[in-house]
Amino acid sequence: MSKASDTRLPKTVDPYRLAEHDTVLEGDVPLSALSRFRNAVMGFEDDAVCRVKLSFYLDGERRRTVSGELEAPVSLQCQRCMESMGTVLTSSFLLGLVTSDGQARQLPKELEPFLMDEFNADLWLMVEDELLLALPSYPVHDRSECPAKEELEAYEPDGSSEGSEEGTADNPFSVLAGLKKTKH
Ligand SMILES: [Zn+2]
Repeated sequence: MSKASDTRLPKTVDPYRLAEHDTVLEGDVPLSALSRFRNAVMGFEDDAVCRVKLSFYLDGERRRTVSGELEAPVSLQCQRCMESMGTVLTSSFLLGLVTSDGQARQLPKELEPFLMDEFNADLWLMVEDELLLALPSYPVHDRSECPAKEELEAYEPDGSSEGSEEGTADNPFSVLAGLKKTKH
């Protein structure tokens, strides 16, 4: 097992060698270096970084595989009030390293293809792609923190839609409890 880098994630690596040696790389990528990502978000601190952990290995079929996790603090635009909202993007992903579209098509569906040239993978590009995929399509503040909440309450006076997955309305036990009560 190779030693992990201390801070910066290396930009380009020979991923075949890393996969042969079961290498784990851990490090940071400065968000300011990722121009597509910078254009896709409202902003971030000047020195903000994406923390990344990448594990390179050969899978059971000897496919060169990368399992990764990332985390990055950013500001997105709340789609309810259009103000800035701070959040931490997180993602985990499983990539198959390929050098052609043909190889990409042969990957099983649990592996997302990452196209590279024969001896180099650009890890920062990989991180940027995954960050873009991790962006929520409809970011909104928590209801209680959203400056637009007063307008919202006008539309939804009971305010009951938050946390509805945990709601008690269709919980069979609460129905039973209700039945018991009516007997008294
Ligand atoms: Zn908001």
